[in-house]
Amino acid sequence: MKQRTLKVVADVMGMQTSIAVLKIQAFATEPDLKEWTDLVCPKCGKVPKYSGANYNCGCGESYSWWGKLKRVIKGTVTEVLMPRLLGSGEEAVAKLYKMDIATFSKYVDATKEERGVTVKDEASARNLFKLIVATEKLGNVLIVRYNDTTEEVVALLTQSVSRRVILKNIIPINLLELKETLKIDMSGITEKDIEEAKGFLHIIPEASEETLKINDYRVGALNVTPVSEEKVVELQTILAKAK
Ligand SMILES: [Zn+2]
Repeated sequence: MKQRTLKVVADVMGMQTSIAVLKIQAFATEPDLKEWTDLVCPKCGKVPKYSGANYNCGCGESYSWWGKLKRVIKGTVTEVLMPRLLGSGEEAVAKLYKMDIATFSKYVDATKEERGVTVKDEASARNLFKLIVATEKLGNVLIVRYNDTTEEVVALLTQSVSRRVILKNIIPINLLELKETLKIDMSGITEKDIEEAKGFLHIIPEASEETLKINDYRVGALNVTPVSEEKVVELQTILAKAK
């Protein structure tokens, strides 16, 4: 999504009232491998042309798929090797760590991707429950690290706003390109600040289920089955069954 200016308004007694003007953008990005590397002919080092389902090089070589080409850092001959970190069929082992939230907030947690989490067995359910309680009540951030096929994954075991247990893959901080963001220090919040927030919230209209739906071209064009609550499992239900 491009950078954009957003004027946030609320309908207050039939009047559109301006709340804030926001500048929005992806607040952090991970460099795209394709932007800083080239796939070149392993024989001569030139970038081959893709035509007729083949990569044809000026030197006369032809390659049937990109995997046969050499990935180099753009403008150099330095090869980028992508060694396999997880064998096919190998069980992925994720290591779990904790960090207190005050320390964690010094870093950037930019979401790369979110994965839903489910458990089948009782021991997993019981431990997961304890962990989520720790994140909710004890100010802990749970960090999970594992190896995917060729990449290391850093993720947070956490909850979404609607209380789904999720594994939130974040951009590793040593790959992260940070844009401008805003941070709020909550430690100095006073009673007066809270009272003022309450008063301000009062003028904002209530959202309904309709607020979470869209009415654009996608609704007519796609035949989508709406979200099913059957796909949601309560962790406590699994634990209760086990008793
Ligand atoms: Zn060549």
